[in-house]
Amino acid sequence: MKSRFILTLGLLTALLASCGPSAPTTDPSIALTAAFETAFAQLSAPTATPQITDTPVPTPTVPRTPPALPGTYQTSLLKSHDIPRAYVTDSCQYLKNKWDSTKSAPGTIVMVIMHHGINKGAASGNDVTVSVHKQIMNDLHESGFTAINMQQMADFMYDNAKIPQRSVLFIVDDRHFAEYFNDHWRPYFEQWGWSVVNGYIGIDERTDLWAENAALSAEGWVDYQSHGYIHNIPISEGSADDFIISEMQGAINSIQKYMNKTPIGYIWPGGGFSRRAVEIGPTLGYKLAFTVNQRGPVMYNWIPQADAVNASNPLAIPETPAGNPLMTIPRYWSANVRENIGNVIAIGDEAIAYAEQNKGVELEYYDIVCAPAYGPIP
Ligand SMILES: [Zn+2]
Repeated sequence: MKSRFILTLGLLTALLASCGPSAPTTDPSIALTAAFETAFAQLSAPTATPQITDTPVPTPTVPRTPPALPGTYQTSLLKSHDIPRAYVTDSCQYLKNKWDSTKSAPGTIVMVIMHHGINKGAASGNDVTVSVHKQIMNDLHESGFTAINMQQMADFMYDNAKIPQRSVLFIVDDRHFAEYFNDHWRPYFEQWGWSVVNGYIGIDERTDLWAENAALSAEGWVDYQSHGYIHNIPISEGSADDFIISEMQGAINSIQKYMNKTPIGYIWPGGGFSRRAVEIGPTLGYKLAFTVNQRGPVMYNWIPQADAVNASNPLAIPETPAGNPLMTIPRYWSANVRENIGNVIAIGDEAIAYAEQNKGVELEYYDIVCAPAYGPIP
């Protein structure tokens, strides 16, 4: 195009030059400008639109066949019954969130940990000693983990919002004195900015205890979420709707009353849940809920769940019959954290490799099937 333009300009200049004797006063630069403008006008002049006399025949386009999407990443690093499940039903939205460079990179992983007591003496039951607790915290920090809170967790699990590539969500169950948090958790908030979730029991008693926990809540780094109202009767498949609602809504009411915040996370008391409770929870505003089942870490659109009771984990209630992985998220017991950190990291690394291996296919699928309606991936 450029060479044609120059050629045309050259011809016009030659033409002008040969059009008889020009007035000697003509400034050559003016003539050239005129020639240029003429040439330009010719080039940019609209060509006559041909009259359409017939129905236009559309150019035949070869429809592109979308490739088959790869399955959910599976791993031999989990027990065979603890099978990772996808929960995002809209595959276009999933792919867009997954490959959006402003969101969490594929392989971003969360180790959710359940804490009970931290004993200054010997460990008993579900508790750990102070020294083991310190070892857990140091191991996680040295392994590159960062603690997140419940809102970050929900934004990640729903939308793949950006969180640290190796994240940890600490959930302390039950009521504690402020001393518990000041002794065992505040140092990590002060050193590393780490927060801790407390599944608090909603029963409206002990206003003194509510007051000291409400003061911590106001500081922001102890993130209070719901752990039932009366708490001591776990929800089970036999639980009536009235009981489920009184437990789940009752905890919201108390936390709103004493702490002026609305919980979005539910920690199933005693690890008990049912299909009905898993259905009711989101209608009350819960975004996520947590079991006592130790099955593995979680990622965006990736939650290990079991279909049935199995010998490798006989006390764990199977989650898939309840029908919503986001409401039955597994947790590691604190006493088992140290021996599992390496496994969690390895799963994250495998997931990164699997995502990279499938990136081309997923982006091609997105381009064909999704991009027209969902737009380009940021
Ligand atoms: Zn409890």
